[in-house]
Order: sequence, then C-alpha cells, then structure tokens
Amino acid sequence: MAFSSVWIEEGCTACDACADACPEVFKVDHDEGTAVVIADARVDGKTSTNEAEKAALKGDLGSAQEESIQDAADGCPVGIIQMAK
Ligand code: SF4
Repeated sequence: MAFSSVWIEEGCTACDACADACPEVFKVDHDEGTAVVIADARVDGKTSTNEAEKAALKGDLGSAQEESIQDAADGCPVGIIQMAK
C-alpha cells in the first residue's frame, strides 16, 4: 500500500542519505541542520520536517516513490524517517 504521508523526527545528522535515495520527497536544509519534506511533494505546499503538519503526499508520489521512500527510511542512520500508510 502506498504511503499517505512522510515526516522526519528530531535527531537528523544532515547526512544527505535520504535526499540521495529519494530527491522527489527529501532534501537537506544544511542551514537548519535537518532533512525536510519538500513543498513539491506535499499537498500543503510547505517545506519542513512535516513532523507537526503530517501533510499528505501529493498526487501519486506515495505509490510512485514508495520504494525509494522506504529505501530512504531504511538507510537513515538514526532511524527518524516515519511514514503513514
Ligand atoms: S537519512 Fe536520516 S539523518 Fe540522514 S539526512 Fe535524512 S533524515 Fe537526516
């Protein structure tokens, strides 16, 4: 089943692994020192960790990028990428 939303909890080390695995959803804000879920991937059009908002993924991203989102979560060295189905 596709993911409905994705967010990033506290503790990011800004390692860039998630942005490399799935740039359609993640990027790293090196000024803030955390990965974020990009505006283009979200129905609310914001760019943030999405931890507070838990905004839904836009369009078919949750299914089209399901594998790469899972890869990003599995590859996060601190295990802070969370998804909802
Ligand atoms: S993989 Fe994890 S630690 Fe690395 S930038 Fe992404 S959220 Fe942060």
